[in-house]
Amino acid sequence: KSLQQTLSWVAFPMTIEPTNLPPVLRGDSVMHMQHEIAKSFSVGAEHGSFFVADLSSVVQQHRRWKHFLPEIRPFYAIKCNPDPVVLHLLAGLGACFDCASLAEINMALAALGPSYRATDPSTQGQRIIFASPCKFSSDIRGAARLGIMMSTFDNMDELDKIAQHYPASRLVLRILADDSRSHWPLSRKYGAHLAVVPSLLKRAKELGLDVIGVSFHAGSGCSDPTIFADSVARARKAFDIGKELGYKFTLLDIGGGFEDKLMPDSDVNLFEENARVLKGAIAEYFPVADRPKEFEVIGEPGRFYATNAFTLVTNIIARRAVIPGVNFVQPNIPVPGKEGAAVAELMLYLSDGTYGGLNNVLLDRKIAIPFVIAKDQSFSVPDEEKEPASIWGPTLDSIDCVNPWAMVPRGLGVGDWLGFKNMGAYTLCGVTKFNGFDASRVLYTTGAQEDGEQAWKILGKNCGMSLE
Ligand code: PLP
Repeated sequence: KSLQQTLSWVAFPMTIEPTNLPPVLRGDSVMHMQHEIAKSFSVGAEHGSFFVADLSSVVQQHRRWKHFLPEIRPFYAIKCNPDPVVLHLLAGLGACFDCASLAEINMALAALGPSYRATDPSTQGQRIIFASPCKFSSDIRGAARLGIMMSTFDNMDELDKIAQHYPASRLVLRILADDSRSHWPLSRKYGAHLAVVPSLLKRAKELGLDVIGVSFHAGSGCSDPTIFADSVARARKAFDIGKELGYKFTLLDIGGGFEDKLMPDSDVNLFEENARVLKGAIAEYFPVADRPKEFEVIGEPGRFYATNAFTLVTNIIARRAVIPGVNFVQPNIPVPGKEGAAVAELMLYLSDGTYGGLNNVLLDRKIAIPFVIAKDQSFSVPDEEKEPASIWGPTLDSIDCVNPWAMVPRGLGVGDWLGFKNMGAYTLCGVTKFNGFDASRVLYTTGAQEDGEQAWKILGKNCGMSLE
């Protein structure tokens, strides 16, 4: 599709159906797209803001997963970013899906297409796991209708619900992991302590339910590889308890929590380190010689696949100067490196904010660091030509503060463009309609190089649409 067609998608969006995916540009770099778009929308504020998705990044992350964790089937966690083009691409790459609800199961089925047989009885044939330990009963019935067999549980009531609504389920017991080293802890809400595993499994036996394995989640953005090793050791104990009670577990689900970098400027590659330690722990606690023939390890990565692929491009819609002693940045909003009373004198208001695409500032505790998108070429200025600004979203709420203290080039004003990188995870999925603002649209490029070409081929085949 031409850039002009893509731009018209921003101005006149269609409803997205599986057979009606938005246009995808072939081989264009994200930088080039941003500049072209900034040029075309001379009055940017009329068009609001948009994401640019570089699909080659998703292909690259899948390639890395296969390289570093070749024996672990990835079930992409849709909750992280349910973008339909990303889901189609992942389905075409051979990835599977972790769904949190019936709605997400339907998204996964749409991406997998009509040739996918959810009812294939082999575990290998299953490409969807309903990985919520506390499901709506109606969703369990929906999963039963669609033949989505694998699901997780961590409590007695869930077992009763499953026995009533979908007794043919293949269940995976989610155990408690140590999430103390994670950016987003999850264990305060989910995961059965090893002390209650025997009673849960006894109850499952009484109800005649098929428990096939154990899962854990080390928390989102796990910064300490030894936590994965510790979780695998706990899973081993749960396997042994299962064996004593007459179960033959064959599935280990290592959850999500993988991230390349916790901080944008870090040079530590956390993913590779986590993968190395995890593989060692699996080999130690589940030695190949002792594994049942059908033994399989799966994972539920979300952030790892989505984070780097999306850039958010916003427009400056308004500018104000702080009146000393009158306007002030709320004291509960931390200013990185400026504890206390720092107040930037310049206030910039953007076309998207924390109720929209930048909700990760509030919900995912991310620090949004803007970069400037110049209309002509890349805009880089020395530090001495920068000034501090507080950056705000468009809603009338003062909690809509994107960054209370960001260094920006001097002289920015209405109509200039600011971008935010690494915006693919836990952003689009949390957008609200607060104050009537629409979610920022997504523009897609396959990106450059071989990974981009692979994305192009897969989307053409899987979407049944002609991209040439
Ligand atoms: N699996 C489950 C059950 C989750 O709750 C989550 C995130 O909350 C994920 C996978 C994805 O985690 P991440 O995005 O950290 O990989």
